[in-house]
Amino acid sequence: MNRSLTTAGRPAAGRSGVRGRRLPPAWVCCLLAGAGLIALYYAFPFLGASDDVQSGLYCVISGGSAVVIAAGIRWRRPRARLAWWLLAASQVMYTLGDLTYSFMPGDPGTSYPLLANIFYLLQYPPLALALILLIRRRTPGGDVPAMIDSFVISIGAALLYWMFLIGPVMVTSSLSPSDQFATLAFPVVDLLVLALSLRLVFGGGERSRSYHLLIGFLSLVLVADIGYGMQALFGRYIPGTALDLGWLSGYVLLGSAALHPSMARMGEQVPARPAEASRYRLVLLASATLMAPMVLLVRYLQDGNMELLVLAAASASLFLLVMARMSGLIAAQRRLAMTDALTGLSTRRLLEESMRGEISRSGRHGTTLGLLLIDVDHFKRVNDTFGHPAGDAVLAETARRIRAVCRDGDLAARFGGEEFAVLAPHTTQAGLALLAERIRAVVAAAPVAADESTGVPVTASVGGAIMPLHARTADDLIRIADEALYAAKNAGRNRVLIGPLPQTSAEPGAGPAAGPVRAAGGPGHGPAEEPERFRPVA
Ligand code: GH3
Ligand code: MG
Ligand code: MG
Repeated sequence: MNRSLTTAGRPAAGRSGVRGRRLPPAWVCCLLAGAGLIALYYAFPFLGASDDVQSGLYCVISGGSAVVIAAGIRWRRPRARLAWWLLAASQVMYTLGDLTYSFMPGDPGTSYPLLANIFYLLQYPPLALALILLIRRRTPGGDVPAMIDSFVISIGAALLYWMFLIGPVMVTSSLSPSDQFATLAFPVVDLLVLALSLRLVFGGGERSRSYHLLIGFLSLVLVADIGYGMQALFGRYIPGTALDLGWLSGYVLLGSAALHPSMARMGEQVPARPAEASRYRLVLLASATLMAPMVLLVRYLQDGNMELLVLAAASASLFLLVMARMSGLIAAQRRLAMTDALTGLSTRRLLEESMRGEISRSGRHGTTLGLLLIDVDHFKRVNDTFGHPAGDAVLAETARRIRAVCRDGDLAARFGGEEFAVLAPHTTQAGLALLAERIRAVVAAAPVAADESTGVPVTASVGGAIMPLHARTADDLIRIADEALYAAKNAGRNRVLIGPLPQTSAEPGAGPAAGPVRAAGGPGHGPAEEPERFRPVA
């Protein structure tokens, strides 16, 4: 491998300031060279080249990808080295099959010599093993939803394979036993590769450029194999047609995948994505599950057998109705998981999810995002004095009061036991301080009725921070709001503080003047020491 093609070797001319012509990265060179060779492959008949020369070029491209993969492994030193070697081995088997097919005299009664078919089939075990290794490395410990999803779609595809490829071959007597075996075996092993490819797509791991090139290779080869199956069924495979383009460009993508720097990370785990299925995956799953009624419908259109139509309509309706019922249940579960049972506010999980969405939105549109953390003062005393049920009543009423003063776009959540949070998009620092003060005031405005005769005076301390003024990440936003809340507690409770602390942080009980940079509430907002009074509701 010529190091001057690599990104590592590239900067020499640039750094020295000498203007030189830079070569594109090696993986792009591979794509360009591959495209050139494929163009030549299709140009050969017009240039008067013999079939053997054309077939030879085909083998150069398919075998070349194995050589390029080997070079990529030595150069990039991937951790999933074995998987890449297996991909190379699979290409070697394929090329041996091609060489045998093109240059070995075959039995006149068959399209393919038996040896070629054996080599072609031998490409699959290393390919399947490579995919299994990558899957296991990318999602160690397994991923049951990804596995089920890939089975659903593969079984849907298997029905189509059965209907259009496998079934018809079983009843076709014009094929030689060797051809019949190959025409049956290839769709079956292709289905295995399809299931593994889908599992790779649905599972975890980085979606790198190398990963996309590998998926491109698998898709092109699987589609070309289907085309081959159809051609073999309805006649005879003819080299040099558009079908070869699928295979050839697949091999070029595979070679390119092995040269991209991200190939080294192909077998690595990345932090887990949310387990929820995307809408596009649900549509895919639903389409796969409707495959059986679709096949019945096609059969009905061919045969006119009314029973098939009834079966198709009934199974499709049953499936769709069960899907509708299930999605209703999922939505109800989600609502439950996102709503706090005691207060009716959002849960911390929903707050954090919304925060992620709001942060990326505010990053895109340059808007602000404020966060308030609210903690009920001396809440333990409420529990100790009035009992847990009274404490619960205080929490529910405090939540109601907080929500009552929030704007429509704000999200109020229960952050923890007696802690609440408000996410306030599109707000200024002054606006956030005003909201915080409204919350502090409304919580302290009147005692909460713990029962018919007891009123519990409640106060809360509020800390806040705003993006991008005080923080750039979600973690920082929460941390700074939390520090401000802590400082508000230390400053005497029942007060509001917004923004980061000055370098010399507040001493406990030192009062608001020694506290955070900004005290929207300030000393006038409540007694520095909490009264121990619980008076009856007037
Ligand atoms: P501070 O002013 O420093 O915040 O004092 P605090 O007493 O409010 O804080 P602390 O963290 O010591 O106590 C919080 C209490 O809230 C402890 C816990 O038993 C109570 N708590 C948490 N969740 C619930 C709940 O759902 N219902 C009731 N009734 N009490 C709860
Ligand atoms: Mg607390
Ligand atoms: Mg508290």
